[in-house]
Amino acid sequence: MKTGSTNGVTHVVGAGLAGLAAAAVVAGAGRRVRLYEASGHAGGRCRSYFDAELGCRIDNGNHLLLTGNRRALDYLDRIGARDTLEGPGDAVFPFFDATTGRRWVLRPNRGPLPWWVLRRSRRVPGTHARDYLEAMALRRADPAAVVGEVFDRQRQLFARLWQPLAVAALNTGVGQASARLFWRILIETLGRGGGACRPLVPHVGLSETFVDPALGKLRRNGAAVQFGARLRALDFTADRVSMLRFEGEAIELAAADAVILATPAPVAARLVPGLTVPDRYSPIVNAHFRCTAPAGSPLFIGVIGGTAEWIFRKRQVLSVTVSAADRIVDRPADELCEILWQEVAATYDLGSTPLPPVRIVKERRATFLASPGQLLRRPAAATRWRNLMLAGDYTDTGLPATIEGAIGSGMTAAHRALFLRDRVAPPPGSTWRPVDEGRKSRIEGMPNLQ
Ligand SMILES: Cc1cc2nc3c(=O)[nH]c(=O)nc-3n(C[C@H](O)[C@H](O)[C@H](O)COP(=O)(O)OP(=O)(O)OC[C@H]3O[C@@H](n4cnc5c(N)ncnc54)[C@H](O)[C@@H]3O)c2cc1C
Repeated sequence: MKTGSTNGVTHVVGAGLAGLAAAAVVAGAGRRVRLYEASGHAGGRCRSYFDAELGCRIDNGNHLLLTGNRRALDYLDRIGARDTLEGPGDAVFPFFDATTGRRWVLRPNRGPLPWWVLRRSRRVPGTHARDYLEAMALRRADPAAVVGEVFDRQRQLFARLWQPLAVAALNTGVGQASARLFWRILIETLGRGGGACRPLVPHVGLSETFVDPALGKLRRNGAAVQFGARLRALDFTADRVSMLRFEGEAIELAAADAVILATPAPVAARLVPGLTVPDRYSPIVNAHFRCTAPAGSPLFIGVIGGTAEWIFRKRQVLSVTVSAADRIVDRPADELCEILWQEVAATYDLGSTPLPPVRIVKERRATFLASPGQLLRRPAAATRWRNLMLAGDYTDTGLPATIEGAIGSGMTAAHRALFLRDRVAPPPGSTWRPVDEGRKSRIEGMPNLQ
């Protein structure tokens, strides 16, 4: 089947956040888009579904955004969904120490000058203002250094702040996580002040915020969205992709057509000859307990010294996240329920409430391992085939595998596709710039921030 026209069609393969963002940008620019998704739903690793056991909708995993996630917020503006997020008016991060029962709230001030570290009531208890300067060593860290080597691991500040932040942001234990990548996260968030760190969570669910409004917008923009369409192979000429081969359908590309491949890394590696991608993964375990938290309790609480790391208060569930969960992912679900429920009950002051209905979700390949070695395996959006772009959280975004990274990668690929065909300049604020194909990272060993 031929789909091309003189204006060209952009074929986006994979309807996770990277693919949705790419499709939204290209369709929003008035270009023709076809989006193909192998499964029966969009959203990939960031979506909601009805869980029959719990009798309610849940998110596949708890996802937290910050106001500094400008690519994600730009995407939500494009699809008209920014008002589906909720969060406190200021950057407040409540914590609970499961070993001592102590509670505190981290409160970075709004502006970039971090005077909050001077105020005992705003910083981590048991720490001094000078302790926070230790984070500056991340900036000068060797590209091969890991987070755990840069900090003094005996300090309260490490256990109560740097470690939980690094594990949550990179989904990688501090003994393996890239120090440079953690620095990148800190300068995009805490480094820009509390104004960039205000937490945001979907008011209803991940799909209601990131997925359904995008599909609606795409359809209104005339994009064709096809589910159950698994790309099996690509045909190549010397310098371009010439054919998309789905099960039962082959699509011949016209000269002006482009392809944005927004599948997960291992699928991209199977489809594109010679492509190097990260090949080690890190699990996340979520436990969703069907119960409601006391009115007025925080939307989420960080847990120190327990098995649970973050607990989120949703409309119908209290939901636990354990990142870099290698140490528990093989434990039986029954055991995990008991341990995690005790911590949930203590954290949200539920007293001796019996164990409610629960769903344990183990995502063994939640994200790639954010180790220095794996970062070097991230490919650029551009490929040696001029009409083929890559998108996905695994590509060389300069960010960890996150919503922000995935959406940024989709936008990069889309702007590239638009620029190559129409010489359309990236919009103001976009991180993408036309670059030399062979450009190397400005910081040795660090991924490009395109
Ligand atoms: C449990 C969990 C918790 C997380 N928590 C956070 C968090 O708190 N904050 C945060 O920012 N990030 C978080 N993340 C990471 C974030 O969800 C991902 O980085 C992001 O969703 C990845 O999007 P993507 O589009 O790159 O990939 P994917 O979501 O994997 O999308 C790829 C899509 O391609 C489709 N596909 C695959 N093969 C084919 C094929 N051959 N043909 C057509 N389609 C195909 C797939 O079905 C899928 O829909 C979490 C992830 C998990 C799993």
